[in-house]
Order: sequence, then C-alpha cells, then structure tokens
Amino acid sequence: MINYHFHDDRSSDGVGPLHEHCEAAIAAGIREICVTNHAEVLGPDGSWYADYHEMRDRFLSIGDSVGEARLLYPDLVVRLGIELEYRPEWTRAFDRLTAEVPFDFVLGSVHIVDGFNISGGPEKDRFFEGRTQDEAYARYFRELAALVEWGGFDVVSHFDLIARYGHRHYGAYEPSRYRGEIQPVLEAMAARGVGIEINTSGMSGPGVPYPAHDVLVWAREAGVPALTLGTDSHRPATFADGLVEGIALAEDSGWRELTSFEGRRATATMSMERAARWAADRAKRGRN
Ligand SMILES: [Zn+2]
Ligand SMILES: [Zn+2]
Repeated sequence: MINYHFHDDRSSDGVGPLHEHCEAAIAAGIREICVTNHAEVLGPDGSWYADYHEMRDRFLSIGDSVGEARLLYPDLVVRLGIELEYRPEWTRAFDRLTAEVPFDFVLGSVHIVDGFNISGGPEKDRFFEGRTQDEAYARYFRELAALVEWGGFDVVSHFDLIARYGHRHYGAYEPSRYRGEIQPVLEAMAARGVGIEINTSGMSGPGVPYPAHDVLVWAREAGVPALTLGTDSHRPATFADGLVEGIALAEDSGWRELTSFEGRRATATMSMERAARWAADRAKRGRN
C-alpha cells in the first residue's frame, strides 16, 4: 500500500517529525510513502507566504530527513514530495524550487480562491457568502483550470475540494452539474500528462474521498495518465485514515492501478487487486 499525500511538522499545519509518520505507516502495513509538505508557510497574521530561499532551505533539509528515514526503515520506501498552492505570483518561485530540489513527486492544489481559503479557517464561509452554488463551484473549477494551464507539478490534489464546505452551504454536490467546467480540466490534464489523486481527507468533510466517483470515471475516460492515493493526514495518529474507502472508490470508478513516483516520473504501479487485499485485511482488523 502507498500513501502519497501527508504532512509532517515541516508543514506549517502539520504535527510530528517524519520518523513518527514512518512508524505509523509501518504499523498500518504501508510500504511506500511520500511526504508532501506545503511549500508556502503560514505567517503570524494567518496568511500564507512563499519565499524562494526559505522554501529551498527547508525542502533540502526535509530531503536530508527523508534520507535518514530510508536508512532507519529499510523496508519502507520514503519519497520526497511537495504540495504547491496555485497563485500566479508564486509560480516562478515554485518552478525554480522544483528545478533546484530533487523532488520525487509534486502535487498542485487550489485552496485559495479570490483571496479566500476555501479549505478551512475563518475565511472559508466568506467565499460562499453572496455567491450562488453555481457561481461558487464554477469559480473554483476555473481556478483549477488555471492551475493545470500552469502545469508545474505531477498530480492535481483533491480535485473537488470546493465540496468540503460547499456541501454545507448548498447541500449535496453533484459533479454532473459542473461537467462543462470539469471536463476541459481533465482533458488538459490528460494532454499535459498530469495525474489525479484520491484524497481521503474528504471523509471528514463531505463524507467521501475527493474527487467524486463520476469525476474519477471521467478522468479515466479522458486519458488522465496516473492515479495516486493519499490521506492528506497532518499528524501520525491519522496517517492511514480513509485508505480503505479510497481503494473502494478507485475500484468502483474502474481504475486498475495506483501509481507511485521517483524523480518526478511514474515508476511503479500497484494493481487494484493488491490494494483491495490490503484494504480487506485492514478492514478485518477493524480499522478504516
Ligand atoms: Zn491540500
Ligand atoms: Zn495536503
């Protein structure tokens, strides 16, 4: 099993050193992990900042910690990743950073739309106030299209994160209503060779992983080249949460394998049969 999206204490919002996350992975029977801390840092005023030199020094140091973890846990494959937030004014620094630091894997994300953080914090409701459901969702998917157009990453994180709080404001999220916005994004991903992830942090938001089942089907049909799986955990105690549901979703949407990365290239795939065996074993032990 793999976990290709988690944060440790080198992310502004993460807790616990890398070795504690490695131990949580081993305890859950996970064989390969990729630490994907946020590039940007949270300032004392609650805003996020991206400074090239700070990021370079921190991620080179995280790379050292990844090297130490590989020595400490020889049976665990540990990869160096990063999660980049799309902001037009940050893309140059990010492009420089990913050229300088030897990342295995880079996630691209949209958390902030029109200056509002839609994924948490005090601003999340302000984005939705004064917008209809269609305005809010369409605006988010337009930003996702801009993220893919930039393209400085390997896989889009939590494709429909807007549903995390959108469902509280407007009720259930129906992706078919936004197919006109979603489909061109998926086609652009396929054309650029950008993959998609199943992100199980949605279990504590809309109650299902991101993205929705239909989005995963459309992504596969559009030729999106890779599917990764991650929990987006920010502390060791939740490291493997939702993986069982994530694998069920991958199977139901017809994907045949999960992909892992090394040096920014898709290297190995895990068959869904193997993933399902891991999930059945974990479910038997009473864990999700
Ligand atoms: Zn994220
Ligand atoms: Zn994340």
